[in-house]
Amino acid sequence: MSDTIQEGQVVSMEYSLQVDGKVVDSSDGDEPLEFLVGFDNIIEGLEDEMLSMKVGESKKVIVSPEDGYGEYDDEAFMDVPRSEFPADMPVKPGLEMEVTDEEGNPMYARIEAVKGDQITLNFNHPLAGKELHFSVKVLSIRDATEEELEHGHAHTNGGHHH
Ligand code: ZN
Repeated sequence: MSDTIQEGQVVSMEYSLQVDGKVVDSSDGDEPLEFLVGFDNIIEGLEDEMLSMKVGESKKVIVSPEDGYGEYDDEAFMDVPRSEFPADMPVKPGLEMEVTDEEGNPMYARIEAVKGDQITLNFNHPLAGKELHFSVKVLSIRDATEEELEHGHAHTNGGHHH
């Protein structure tokens, strides 16, 4: 039996994410992050690099945009009339939202510009086109429960977050 991280296990880890030399996300002062391996719970490029890790091990992982949040797409913009948004929505540049595509899948978007009645949405993830510098430490590894495998995510501290 291997003691390295395997698919179908729940990993608890400390992590920090640096982009352009700045920390943009971290578990510092927070609960460790738990994730279920093999279910797209975390960025694929990071998970792939963690598969050989053991409890107590630390690693720095650099993920290319391709394996991270994607390349920046100059075409991923759309002009939408103001009337398509709820009247009480404070439409201004920088506002982030979740929209649904034609198949009903949730998509990230943020307002790039507001020109009169025309609102330009940018569908690029804020970290698109960025190299991701992760620093991770594996705190524990355990087998997932049946329920976790069914749901495709970890249930932290027996809790249930949907
Ligand atoms: Zn669940």
